[in-house]
Amino acid sequence: RAKAQGRNTFGFYTAEMNQVSLEKLRLEHDLRQAVARNELVLFYQPQVNVSTGQVVGVEALLRWQHPQLGMVSPAKFIPLAEETGLIVPIGAWVLREACAQSQKWQAWGFPPLKMSVNLSALQFKKQNVVQLVQSVLQETGLPAHLLDLEFTESLVMENTEYIIQVLQSLRDLGVQLSVDDFGTGYSSLSYLKRFPVNTVKIDRSFVQSVHHVREDAVLTRAIIALARSMNLKTVAEGVETIEQLNFLMQHNCDEVQGFYFSKPLPVFELEQLMHRQTHFEIASFEPLPQTA
Ligand code: C2E
Ligand code: MG
Ligand code: MG
Ligand code: MG
Repeated sequence: RAKAQGRNTFGFYTAEMNQVSLEKLRLEHDLRQAVARNELVLFYQPQVNVSTGQVVGVEALLRWQHPQLGMVSPAKFIPLAEETGLIVPIGAWVLREACAQSQKWQAWGFPPLKMSVNLSALQFKKQNVVQLVQSVLQETGLPAHLLDLEFTESLVMENTEYIIQVLQSLRDLGVQLSVDDFGTGYSSLSYLKRFPVNTVKIDRSFVQSVHHVREDAVLTRAIIALARSMNLKTVAEGVETIEQLNFLMQHNCDEVQGFYFSKPLPVFELEQLMHRQTHFEIASFEPLPQTA
């Protein structure tokens, strides 16, 4: 029966579809071995305090150096890692690696840098994420308050009560929590009140069009104002231009992250940057005229 079904399904495939699924199959096969073969690396993107220009943190972003294909974009392999469940062991590796790196920097006397790590919803479903975070903090010796865990709104969509409990347990460990890509999900703004989070990260898609799409400017301002009224910090991602930075400054966004300051960097380059400058020049930026 399996054979008949197999032939049947096979019949629907065009050569092109076959090509795509073969490629995916190969990528999946290779991804399974990527951790063991040391092909995964973390890049770090600085997060800059808007009022002081100080580099206050970095976000750890995963890169896959494939032996034949070169750098594979996270946009391509993260969804695959989620589909196959591989994101669970990979995510644990990311957390360990990022915390160990951060602790190393602290030991070297770097100024305190918050380390932001992305967590996939699957890590909450398939694993005791609280236990994982607790043991990684213990193993690496990283002070909990320097770790910031990013998750997206979609995580809280199902099993809201349970997830809020898990998030609360994470907060009890002393780590910080951020809602990533805020504004792209389907949850209402009022949901935010129920999450035990510290920070809201405004999605790149809004930031990038604050000067072309009126609705995005309005929404960005509303998100910042709402977050502030709830004593939450705001971080804008994907800041590429001085106009975007000025807009965010003018509307009291706390921190920014984006190509305007720096791309995500390999460890060594991030270290060079930190040796050269722990601050970016903000004072020279022309603030837009404030009304009243
Ligand atoms: P994200 O967490 O929202 O990360 C921000 C993305 O925006 C990163 O893409 C970063 O390189 C990019 N970015 C930052 N500044 C700019 C800018 O000024 N302009 C533009 N055009 N892009 C900018 P990246 O590194 O390709 O990662 C994509 C997504 O993959 C991440 O989005 C995150 O959702 C996921 N991801 C990356 N690393 C991990 C990880 O370790 N675990 C999990 N679960 N997901 C990860
Ligand atoms: Mg993120
Ligand atoms: Mg983000
Ligand atoms: Mg994003």
